[in-house]
Amino acid sequence: MTEDPRDRFEVPFPTPAYLDKEVRRSMKNRVAAALEELKCCRACPRNCGVNRLADEIKVCRTGRHAWVSSAFPHLGEEACLRGSRGSGTTFFSMCNLRCVFCQNWTFRNNPTGGSWTPRNWLT
Ligand code: SF4
Repeated sequence: MTEDPRDRFEVPFPTPAYLDKEVRRSMKNRVAAALEELKCCRACPRNCGVNRLADEIKVCRTGRHAWVSSAFPHLGEEACLRGSRGSGTTFFSMCNLRCVFCQNWTFRNNPTGGSWTPRNWLT
C-alpha cells in the first residue's frame, strides 16, 4: 500500500484556546484595550490618531470595523498548513501599506466586500 504524503502532516484537531477560562478572561481585557486604542488610532506607522470608534476615517479609510473582501476555508495552501479541513483565509480591503508589488491590488485599496461587524464573523 502506498503512503499518502498528506498523512504525514495530519495532527489531531486541537482544543481551541478560546475555550479555556483564563484565555477567555484575558481575551476580554485585550478586547477592551484594543477598543480603547481605536479612540486614537495608532495601529500602524501612519499614526493618524483618528477616533475610529466614532467611525472617523483617514489614510486606511477604515472606520470602526474592518473591510473584508472575502473569507473562506483555503484548500490551496501546503498540506502542513491546511490539514484536511483547510486553513481559514481572510482577505481585507483598505490596506494601509500600499506596497507596489502587492498581488491583491484589485481589492487592497477599494472598499470591496463590506465592513464586517462581529456578527459577520460568526455567521
Ligand atoms: S492608517 Fe488606519 S490603522 Fe493606520 S493609524 Fe491611520 S487610522 Fe489607524
